This record gives sequence, structure tokens and C-alpha cells, in this order.
Amino acid sequence: MKIAVFSTKTYDQDYFEKHAEDYNYKFSFFETALNKDTANLSIGFEAVCIFVNDTVDKETIKRLSENGVKLIALRCAGFNNVDLEAAKEHDIKVVRVPVYSPPAVAEHAMALILTLNRKTHKAYNRVREGNFSLKNLIGFNLSGKTIGVIGTGQIGAAFSRVIKGFGCKVIAFDISKSDELIDLGVEYMPLDEVFKQSDVLSLHCPLNTHTRHMINKKSIALMKKGVMIINTSRGALINTVDVIEGLSNRKIGYLGIDVYEQEENLFFEDLSEIIIQDDLILRLNGFPNVLITSHQAYFTKEAMDQITITTLDNIKAFANHLELANEIK
Ligand code: NAD
Repeated sequence: MKIAVFSTKTYDQDYFEKHAEDYNYKFSFFETALNKDTANLSIGFEAVCIFVNDTVDKETIKRLSENGVKLIALRCAGFNNVDLEAAKEHDIKVVRVPVYSPPAVAEHAMALILTLNRKTHKAYNRVREGNFSLKNLIGFNLSGKTIGVIGTGQIGAAFSRVIKGFGCKVIAFDISKSDELIDLGVEYMPLDEVFKQSDVLSLHCPLNTHTRHMINKKSIALMKKGVMIINTSRGALINTVDVIEGLSNRKIGYLGIDVYEQEENLFFEDLSEIIIQDDLILRLNGFPNVLITSHQAYFTKEAMDQITITTLDNIKAFANHLELANEIK
């Protein structure tokens, strides 16, 4: 079986090569993202393997189908970038990696919180330049603060356990409650109450029609002045224009994002010598209380091993006509 792997970086290829000898498949690695313009690279392949910023819309799927592709293997958990209806219409199966390392993302959310709060990124640069002043480096005790978790699935649960260890009160909203978290002392409440009571809000729900732009002018108005908002889930959970307004009028005290609504044109690439045309990210980068990372929350050795092994197992199950445990229907 031949598989075209899109949006490949050298580290993706390294992990595929590390594990591929246990499987008998032929991989071709493409740096480019999969979209309607690049879909013809799939000619001669039975499967395509994609990541978070490939755009697998109706048109792309039509072209994949014409080229004989029968399987789309996502090497991530979120699947908001795939038109599942269109895949079904063309009888293309879609599989994903539902869980690879919840602690990886939870720990990165924690890193964003600690960095924004205690400003270690600024202190590092200062001290290296011989500036030992503490001016403007003041933070706050996390212990005793109220943390709002939106989405308490695998990652939200891991995050709740970590932040509980810091002595925080954890309140949460999810469309289904976790008994394990209730036993841990997490208090579920309506979404608006989570917005109202949180000192720090951390987003861990999927992006879908119900959650798109859940952080907007209206929800920001409910929040505490000086709130910290952390998003390691999907960029479009946040209305960026509204958040910029919230930062400008100081309602939002801190913003930490690992994902961004227009990230597909920016993230994972070195654009340091390019004139960036995205005015919103430039505006965000101009705030001293905003910390942006480039969709790296998942990026640990353990997660990369798990992503690769599950992806290879998903492909193997498809090739052997076995039940697809990780199929998205
Ligand atoms: P999960 O499916 O285990 O949990 C998602 C939770 O969100 C579930 O409990 C679900 O009930 C809840 N939910 C669904 N709709 C909701 C709504 N309208 N409001 C509130 N909660 C809702 O998923 P997960 O493994 O915890 O991952 C969560 C998200 O994290 C993924 O969808 C993905 O977008 C993102 N993610 C980001 C990275 C990264 O590197 N930044 C890595 C992995 C996953």
C-alpha cells in the first residue's frame, strides 16, 4: 500500500522512519499541505496522511476520490479540517489519532500560564543582557485562584489534575460531566458562570459549530477584569478581533495561545525574513501580555511516538479490512 504524507517536516519523517520497519508500507513525504490545489499529488496513492492545517474540503475530497484515494489518516485528534459528509459521499474512510498524549497538551497550557504570569521569558532575556531589575516582572500566586476549564475530555481532565496540584479551585463546563473529575473536586457549572468566576480560563473543547468564536465580545463582557485566557485547542474558538479589543481596553489581562484562527498560513514555518501580511497576528504580537506558540503543545517525544504508531496501526487495520477503531463517521 502506498501512502502520501502531507505537511511533512523532517521530525515527522524521522518518527515515521523510526517505526515504519514494523509495517510494510511505502510512504512518500510531501512538505506541502493538502488542499484542492495540491490534491493531484495523491495520484497513485491509496491513502493520504494529513495534519492540522491541511484543508480537506469538498473539492479536495472529490479530487482525492478521482485519484483513487480510499483512506484519509489524520495524525492528530481534531478533525475540523475534513469535510466528513463529502468523504462519506465518496466512500473514503477517515481515521484519526484520538488520544496520543493528553499530558503533553495539558503541560503546555500550564507552561503558557506560568510564563505569562511569572514572565520568565522576559526575565531570561533581561538577565542575559545584564539587566537584573525586577521592574514590571511582578506576578500573582496561582494558589487559591479559580481556573475555568471548558471541555473536560482527555486534555481538559489532564489539565485539571495538574492545576489542582497548584492549589487552585477548578470550575468547568462541558456538555457531558466526568465523574472522575467531580470526585477530584472539579465543580461543573453553566458556561456563563465559568466565564464570570474564572481568574484563568483554559479552552479544551473541540472546534465545531457550537464552539466557534465562543470567546467573543459577549463572553468577554462577562469575564473578570484582568482575566487570563489560554487556548491550546483550536484557534477559531476565539474571535481574534474581539480579543484584541479586550486586550486593548485591558479587560483581558493575559492571553496565551498555541493555536490561532489563521494559523494555516503561518504556523510551522520560518517566516522570519518574510513580510507577514496577517495584521491580526502582528497586532497580537505587539501586546506585552500576549504569548503565542506555534501549535507545539502536542510536540513531545512521547506524543510523536504515539501519533506515529496509532497512525500506522490505523493504516494497517484499513489495509487488512479490519474494523477501524479510530474511524470518524
Ligand atoms: P476529547 O474529545 O477527549 O475532549 C473534548 C471534550 O470537549 C469532551 O469532553 C466533550 O464533551 C467536550 N465538548 C464538546 N463540545 C463542547 C462544548 N460545546 N462545550 C464544552 N465542551 C464541549 O478531546 P481532547 O483529546 O481532550 O482534545 C481537545 C481538543 O484539543 C481537540 O479537539 C483538539 O482541537 C485540541 N488539541 C490541540 C493540540 C495542540 O497541539 N495544541 C493537540 C491535541 C489536541
